[in-house]
Amino acid sequence: MIFRQLFDPTSFTYTYLLASRVGGEALLIDPVLERCERYLQLLDELDLKLVKAVDTHCHADHITGLGRLRDATRCVTVMGRKTAVDVVSMRVDDGDSIDIETISLRVLYTPGHTDDSYSFHLDDRVFTGDTLLIRGTGRTDFQNGDSHAAYDSLFNKLLTLPDDTLVYPGHDYKGDTSSTIGEERAHNPRLQVSSANEYAEIMAGLNLPNPKMMDVAVPANLSIGQDLASDPEVIAATLSIDEARACYNDGNTLFIDLRETGERAREGVIPGSLHTPYPALDDAISPGGLLNAMAMETGKQLILYCAYGERSALALKAMNEAGFSDVRHLGGGMDAWKCASGPLEQEAEA
Ligand code: FE
Repeated sequence: MIFRQLFDPTSFTYTYLLASRVGGEALLIDPVLERCERYLQLLDELDLKLVKAVDTHCHADHITGLGRLRDATRCVTVMGRKTAVDVVSMRVDDGDSIDIETISLRVLYTPGHTDDSYSFHLDDRVFTGDTLLIRGTGRTDFQNGDSHAAYDSLFNKLLTLPDDTLVYPGHDYKGDTSSTIGEERAHNPRLQVSSANEYAEIMAGLNLPNPKMMDVAVPANLSIGQDLASDPEVIAATLSIDEARACYNDGNTLFIDLRETGERAREGVIPGSLHTPYPALDDAISPGGLLNAMAMETGKQLILYCAYGERSALALKAMNEAGFSDVRHLGGGMDAWKCASGPLEQEAEA
């Protein structure tokens, strides 16, 4: 496995790069906007294709690199289901996995620092965001923080992992880079408590100043999707639910589902749609690819959809660039389709 721990000295943020092999797919956890050119350069130097960019939670101390990386690489942006961030293209829940080739992160919902905090467990290590820091824990006094929830996330989720599990936090302010679950259980001063109330008392007594970037970072991070939604090329090809439903019945339309297998099984699919997972899009639209052949041979209009309309907007741009004409996408994706009670079918488990 290729693994890099990258550091932003302004916000003391750690960003993690994971990939299985040179020439393969890569994933970034908690990228920082100002460092994105460096990540892109490193990806290029290591001959990696960024396919997913993931945030552990909505950050208050730096602006996320998710939007910038999505625009530069068309990667999928991932956050937890509870997040209020407007356009995240894939949302994951406790127990789900975030997959790239041969690497699978198991998602743990670990609220407390914020109500949208998640940790990601991979074999011998866990990426804890701000839930568990080295000899510290994330503050719980803003962004719907809750010290009782934090106690539960720490003691009933993270500390149940094997003692030798490596801990890779979202920040460190002293220069430490990693720890282990056993080490933190024994030596983290915040974890030397015997009840949630005792933990809450410690957290209530911290009286921390707000992060310098908070007033800028939180609003910016909540609206990382807006650039894409206001792109004239995307607007021109966006179908409302009513328009898409009219097409659904006209017999001349093929719906293309860009989501992953797990999302299809969980949320259902638009009946009759063709599955082309977004990471396989480049192959599918190249000469000889499935979508290329479909568009040529059937003459049907293609309507792309995904979970929230972001992957489909990116795919639309890629298909326009590749010379496809008359491709549309479903604004708001499956989320909006379900809200409008559009026809659904449950996919049989593979
Ligand atoms: Fe944070």
